[in-house]
Amino acid sequence: MSTKITVVCGSCNYEYVAYTSNQRESFLDCPACEAKMNREMFEKVIDGIIVFEDLHEQFYRRHYSEKPEPYFQVSFESILNQTQKKWLEHKE
Ligand SMILES: [Zn+2]
Repeated sequence: MSTKITVVCGSCNYEYVAYTSNQRESFLDCPACEAKMNREMFEKVIDGIIVFEDLHEQFYRRHYSEKPEPYFQVSFESILNQTQKKWLEHKE
């Protein structure tokens, strides 16, 4: 199991893979338009990766423990609501 983080840049709509467990190096700034992510927000994303990977490690361990539990693979995707979509479309 590995983790992949996909980012959609709100400035130019470019979608890019910003992190995978294998590369261990994360970049969150947009490679297309060079929009920079705030450092505090960058750290929150990194904290989220750590929590997410720990969650899957626990699913794995519990599944292969003496009292096996069902294994689950969880993914998250952020979806804008209608108000947020309209706001982003009209901000320019
Ligand atoms: Zn961009």
